[in-house]
Amino acid sequence: MVDATAVLKRLGIDPAAVVSGVHAGSRLEKPGGEVIESINPASGATLARVATGSKEDYDHCAQKASETFRAWRSLPAPARGEVVRRITETLRLHKEDLGMLVTLEVGKIRSEGLGEVQEMIDMGEFAVGLSRQLYGLTIASERPDHRMMEQWHPLGPVGVITAFNFPVAVWAWNAMIAAVCGDTLIWKPSPLTPLTAIAVQNLVDRVVEPMGWSGVFNLCVGEAQTVGESMIADPRLPLISATGSCRMGRRVGAVVAGRLGRTILELGGNNAVILTPKANFDLATRAVLFAAVGTAGQRCTTLRRLIIHESIAEPFVARIARAFEGIVIGDPADERTLMGPLIRPQAVEAYRKALEAARAQGGDLVKGGRVLEDRPGFFVEPTIVRARPDMPIVGEETFAPILYVLTYREFDEALAIHNAVEQGLSSAIFTDDLLEAERFLGPEGSDCGIANVNIGTSGAEIGGAFGGEKATGGGREAGSDSWKAYMRRQTCTINRGKTLPLAQGVKFDL
Ligand code: NAD
Repeated sequence: MVDATAVLKRLGIDPAAVVSGVHAGSRLEKPGGEVIESINPASGATLARVATGSKEDYDHCAQKASETFRAWRSLPAPARGEVVRRITETLRLHKEDLGMLVTLEVGKIRSEGLGEVQEMIDMGEFAVGLSRQLYGLTIASERPDHRMMEQWHPLGPVGVITAFNFPVAVWAWNAMIAAVCGDTLIWKPSPLTPLTAIAVQNLVDRVVEPMGWSGVFNLCVGEAQTVGESMIADPRLPLISATGSCRMGRRVGAVVAGRLGRTILELGGNNAVILTPKANFDLATRAVLFAAVGTAGQRCTTLRRLIIHESIAEPFVARIARAFEGIVIGDPADERTLMGPLIRPQAVEAYRKALEAARAQGGDLVKGGRVLEDRPGFFVEPTIVRARPDMPIVGEETFAPILYVLTYREFDEALAIHNAVEQGLSSAIFTDDLLEAERFLGPEGSDCGIANVNIGTSGAEIGGAFGGEKATGGGREAGSDSWKAYMRRQTCTINRGKTLPLAQGVKFDL
């Protein structure tokens, strides 16, 4: 048994008290929002109670973030990188406890909880390197004695809204990059995962307070209707980076666009694997298992649709179904467990309803399908349903371990089925045929932001830009040049001559 109280205490949280969920430069002792409970989904037990922020508390955070921005933006980027480096070191020291808290609060298995903290550390290291590489271009000017260049300046305070299923990694994708770019931030985590957020904030505070940089990273735990709505409508925040459902993204996108602000939207997925007769089936089996069952089907990149050639469907599905029998479901803190619980009873209900809809729409249950009511917590079985692409439920993202199996005859048909959903996050093909793989990666192939060959849909590395197309929102975070979204680009033209030639040959002489 894990001693949750000890883990929480080492992360600066007293579970016997009502914990403050608001840090505006420093911890607010008595936030004015309602008190919520953090529940361990593996047991249903309360981990701690958290006081959320009111609109006024949010305003306090926004003021602090705006005020601190005015100084932080002028600190040289490599010096900002040094602050991020120290935060990263602190996270490394507390990886075990923070990983365990992810397991306790979200129900992720131990290695995934630790993996999430490792992802934060990786992001920190990436951002430290980036702090010396915020490059602009020098551009050839058409005018004599002129030079053109672009430079990147800090943008402003950033609002970061995160989902429950990556409660700390998504903060790091945003916060580490935003910080080296010279932005301050206000974090609104999911109200389902306030403790992991408070723990991260506590660790960050230990670093930034002695360095005199309180107010760069702010936290406002709160409900969508109060803190969330205040944040997205706030003109002090030029950028809102929001991760969550498509429904949330539609609202956030519309409100922020209404004030001509910028968004990075990281929304739902409906990810597929195309499995062709030329695939390595051992590899495909392992990849399908992890992508479909990992995190109990609660990853944005979870495999939801297996598009398989009809000639191999039966034996392959039988193989996956057999492999499902070996999946240990249970306490996520136990090293042997491969699948933990869903996040809350509503998620179990959504699983149940999706299976009812699948049945009503003509789907056949191949494996699983049961809610595990014999134990406390919110556990279900990993499930396989034979389905047709035109079944409406197949177009929806149900955040649970349900894999729809769809068959195809011609490769073009597989691509058409693949792209026929509104979301466009992650995708993969399993084939040893070079031409099939290249067609999948070509412009007529996968329409997703992530397209893999012979690896599954989930488990991206931080070095690449992460995000998706269509209803997934179009945003990109983490690696590559995603940092550009957190800065403002300025094009500068400098005249070192004594005349004033105009571009495009325009004459305007007196
Ligand atoms: P959710 O949409 O219910 O909530 C996400 C966050 O948005 C929460 O913090 C919530 O309080 C906030 N929110 C909701 N309405 C808001 C509003 N009107 N204004 C401001 N904030 C608002 O999502 P969830 O259940 O926590 O997470 C699961 C979803 O997130 C899935 O759809 C999953 O695919 C998606 N997700 C996407 C990515 C990605 O990178 N594309 C990553 C993780 C999760």
